Parts: sequence; C-alpha cells; structure tokens
Amino acid sequence: MPSCLFCQIVAGNIDADVLRIGELTLAFRDIRPQAPVHVLIIPKEHLANVAELTPEHGPLLVETAGMAKWIAASEGIAESGYRIVTNTGPDGGQTVDHLHFHLLGGRQMTWPPG
Ligand code: 5GP
Ligand code: ZN
Repeated sequence: MPSCLFCQIVAGNIDADVLRIGELTLAFRDIRPQAPVHVLIIPKEHLANVAELTPEHGPLLVETAGMAKWIAASEGIAESGYRIVTNTGPDGGQTVDHLHFHLLGGRQMTWPPG
C-alpha cells in the first residue's frame, strides 16, 4: 500500500514526530494539533478503519490502549484526562484511510463533538 500516507510514515519514508514504536503500533504527533496533546496511534499493518478489525486484532487493540496510557503519562495528562477518538468514513470525519486513534488532552474536551 505505497500510496497510503500513514504506511509511508510506518516505513520511515515520510517524517513524523514519533513518540513511541510498539511491536504492532506506532505513535506520533498530529501535524495539525487540535489540543495541547494530540497524538495519533496507528497499527503498523494497513487497515482502513475500525470496520476492518477482526478477532485476531485483539492484541493490536490491547497494545493501542497501553500505548495511549504510556503517552498520557509521558505527556503529563494521565491525571487531568484525555479522549481517544477514531473517525470512520465521510460522516465520521475520516480523512486518512489508515486506521488511527486520536489521543487528545491538555484541555477540557466538549461533548457532544461537532
Ligand atoms: P482523520 O481526519 O482521518 O480522523 O485524522 C487524520 C489526522 O491526520 C488529522 O488530524 C491530520 O491532521 C493528520 N495528518 C494528516 N497528514 C499528516 C501528516 O503528514 N503527518 C502527521 N503527523 N499527521 C497528519
Ligand atoms: Zn496504510
């Protein structure tokens, strides 16, 4: 999937501010942050969105949750709190078709999202 932007980041062909590399996942800062902390956690494997997850992806989701917890601690927002969001399809606001989880924190989040 050479045309996929996030696959290119995983491959190291496009620069990103990478915070942590896991066995199955990669975490890097969003290029247009929507909060003081805005990190994307993605699977190294290309999956378009959550609709492509299967039972075999259990370890991937567990690693994603652990990655979020580790980043929240290292960014100093473990206690103040944070939000994890994944957008799917046009109405969900998905603009990059490689599964990614937004980790947002460092300010009060609003609900419901716009
Ligand atoms: P989506 O809109 O699909 O939920 O989220 C895609 C996210 O990827 C956006 O928040 C956008 O700012 C981020 N993004 C798009 N291109 C790049 C890039 O080249 N590098 C990084 N680090 N983030 C990107
Ligand atoms: Zn991809």
